[in-house]
Amino acid sequence: MAHDFADWKWQIANRISTREELEEHIDLTDDERSAFEGAMPLSFAVTPHYAQLLGHQALRHTVIPTLHENQTGTGELADPLGEEEHRATPHLIHTYPDKVLFLVTTFCSTYCRYCTRSRMVGKPVDLEGRTPSCPGLPTKRTGQSPSLQKYEETFHYIEEHPEIRDVLISGGDPLTMPDSVLDELLSRIREIAHVRMVRIGSKVPVVLPMRITDELCSILRKHRVWLSLHFIHAAELSPETQEACRKLSDYGIGMVSQTVLLKGINDDTQTLVDLFYGLLEINVKPYYLLQCDPVRGSEHFRTSVEKGIKLIRSLHGNISGLAVPQYVIDAPGGGGKVPLLGTEQIRRDGDDIVFLNYKGKEYRYPDPLQ
Ligand SMILES: *Cc1c(COP(=O)(O)O)cnc(C)c1O
Repeated sequence: MAHDFADWKWQIANRISTREELEEHIDLTDDERSAFEGAMPLSFAVTPHYAQLLGHQALRHTVIPTLHENQTGTGELADPLGEEEHRATPHLIHTYPDKVLFLVTTFCSTYCRYCTRSRMVGKPVDLEGRTPSCPGLPTKRTGQSPSLQKYEETFHYIEEHPEIRDVLISGGDPLTMPDSVLDELLSRIREIAHVRMVRIGSKVPVVLPMRITDELCSILRKHRVWLSLHFIHAAELSPETQEACRKLSDYGIGMVSQTVLLKGINDDTQTLVDLFYGLLEINVKPYYLLQCDPVRGSEHFRTSVEKGIKLIRSLHGNISGLAVPQYVIDAPGGGGKVPLLGTEQIRRDGDDIVFLNYKGKEYRYPDPLQ
């Protein structure tokens, strides 16, 4: 193993991004091999760290392409969340009243095959029509060091909209950007007085845990950033990932998780319980269990909503309430995230609300009609 395996910049510079490189780590099936030959709808890349975990079948299916990706299932779209209609600036999606999604990069160290933004991530052309790179890094695909110039229109928009209280920085993966850029970006956002909450959406602690250095943690702490982390399976909780999350926690960084419900990968009670308890043990609060967005080429990943509701019900009451995330559908066309509770289990009977508890037993709550 290379001595710089523990260096995140080495990990990015040495990403596995071709079939030949991948085959040095893992034997591919015929289907997987063929997928590399066609026009893949989404780039392929995996960090050497995450490649070590691909012996686990669940993880393998989330990052290695298959021919299924070339099929468009019923109702699938390139932009399932209608983000383009809510694009306020080249880098900003403004769907909800008081929060915005700030897309700072189209680069990820590792690409998830069910990515809801596959239309833009890992593309040869980025949000401004330029060749993207992981900014400022000494890699074979590096570009010039970026300035914040390209975000000026976005900063201006946030400044002009005092109703914006929560800025969610995402992409691509923002934590693949260098410390100096993140520090400047966060400082600039924190200068805007009406912004009360800043979050970063990332999978870096999972796919690139060595990125979580003391310097990065200090920057995140300085700007009081919350992290919204993407986890799909307990097999991702490697010793390095656990250490990264514990370090973030020691620095006082609040962390929540988002998990996409994936067929055959995590759509059973035991797998979800193992993941959610594993997350609590490293101070990450399970936040959302997301129904898989109908993004083009993702049908093979989708579990039915009925099954999703059954799964989330099998958690409520049976395990620690802290371990239970909210099950949501992000409404296609830009309707936003909608919690699915299985509301058919609640009805009114005169002055009572009647509902079932986690064991399926009926209970009444007095709630007189006025
Ligand atoms: C998910 C999302 C947010 C954040 O939503 P929360 O429910 O507050 O986590 C903000 N903007 C967009 C466009 C989103 O998709």
